[in-house]
Amino acid sequence: MARVTFREERCKGCELCIAVCPENIIILADHINAMGFHPATVVEQEKCKGCAMCARMCPDLVIEVEREVAGCE
Ligand code: SF4
Ligand code: SF4
Repeated sequence: MARVTFREERCKGCELCIAVCPENIIILADHINAMGFHPATVVEQEKCKGCAMCARMCPDLVIEVEREVAGCE
């Protein structure tokens, strides 16, 4: 199980994270953030594999990926 979160206020809508997500679950939101960009967000969170490709690609450290570690409760 993995969870991906976006610090929307820092996103400039460059779409790099969208291009690399193997599950195609990242989109640009309809609303506009404080910087005037459509921020990236995740849809179908349950499909996230926790690969963190999106977080590695983001130049603005917008994305945080949390993975459940086997054996931990
Ligand atoms: S962690 Fe991987 S699967 Fe999840 S949103 Fe990011 S790129 Fe997509
Ligand atoms: S790579 Fe980062 S800045 Fe670019 S759209 Fe994705 S979250 Fe926003």
